[in-house]
Amino acid sequence: QRIITTDLMEEELETEGSLRPQYLEDYIGQQKVKENLKIFIEAAKQRGDVLDHVLFYGPPGLGKTTLAGIIANEMGTHMKVTSGPAIEKPGEMAAILNNLQEGDILFIDEIHRLNRQVEEVLYPAMEDFAIDIMIGKGSSARSIRLDLPKFTMVGATTRAGLLTAPLRDRFGVIHHLEFYTIDELKAIIMHSAKILNIEMEESGAVEMAKRSRGTPRLANRLLRRVRDFAQVKFDGRITREVASLSLNLLDVDKCGLDATDRTILLTMIDKFNGGPVGLDTLAAAVGEDSGTIEDVYEPYLIKNGFISRTPRGRVATSLSYHHLGKALPDEM
Ligand code: ADP
Repeated sequence: QRIITTDLMEEELETEGSLRPQYLEDYIGQQKVKENLKIFIEAAKQRGDVLDHVLFYGPPGLGKTTLAGIIANEMGTHMKVTSGPAIEKPGEMAAILNNLQEGDILFIDEIHRLNRQVEEVLYPAMEDFAIDIMIGKGSSARSIRLDLPKFTMVGATTRAGLLTAPLRDRFGVIHHLEFYTIDELKAIIMHSAKILNIEMEESGAVEMAKRSRGTPRLANRLLRRVRDFAQVKFDGRITREVASLSLNLLDVDKCGLDATDRTILLTMIDKFNGGPVGLDTLAAAVGEDSGTIEDVYEPYLIKNGFISRTPRGRVATSLSYHHLGKALPDEM
């Protein structure tokens, strides 16, 4: 089973709730986002008003859903959760909106995947807290406006550029989530280990943090896998050595790259002379969906200097050659 997947695995669903921070002060990292949210939440509460609509964007597993839940907790309201692909018809969106209570948080994951007609229901809902409903047919058809309770929409997407301009413009607060530092991931791993009753040495947590691709979800996932190794092959305690050996067995290398990452880099180097190669061509050669490469794999590879993006396509950097033990082409 692949380690770097964006979907939750079954066992994760069970412990997911307990590992998720519930309040801003327990949320590790994303300092700037936290500071801003804290002020906006405080101000809205003082005014007795709802929080402005919030959009979070960034690679999967960085804590967008978690932040939405935290906003609901901090505001003392409830969160309703749905996602772009789950809502097919405008009527379904209207029903969801109509069922909200005053002050509720409506979290829409993968909001860029809403279809156009559904999205249009959101415009008046977000702007005026109202929906327009057509009644009657033909020449007697007319639209009536239905008031909604005031609510806060929290949208999540992997890239802000995927949203249409009219939708993006209706968010008052837009935040980009960054990859986490090793220190932050270490803190998350130590914290999760405590909750899951796993004996963890700091050096073990650091080793795992380094290989978690800057992503809390992956850090927690690796923690569960390494725990299994520690339990079956060692005495249960996760030391640096145990973490390192287990992660090697899981095919997660020293930089946190997994087999697919390496396939992407190797394909660029072996089949395309290191690039430039277009995303779709690369995706076809690797046998991966181009959206998945762009949203899940590439951001970390670019952030860490394995790939660079040029107007003519993706290029493997000298770091990639070095990391994979490949000889550099003459021109590099
Ligand atoms: P996204 O919605 O961006 O895909 P999630 O909010 O589902 O990401 O986060 C994935 C998991 O990572 C959560 O279940 C939570 O356990 C953990 N997590 C995310 N952000 C943090 C954080 N800042 N501190 C601690 N754990 C976090």
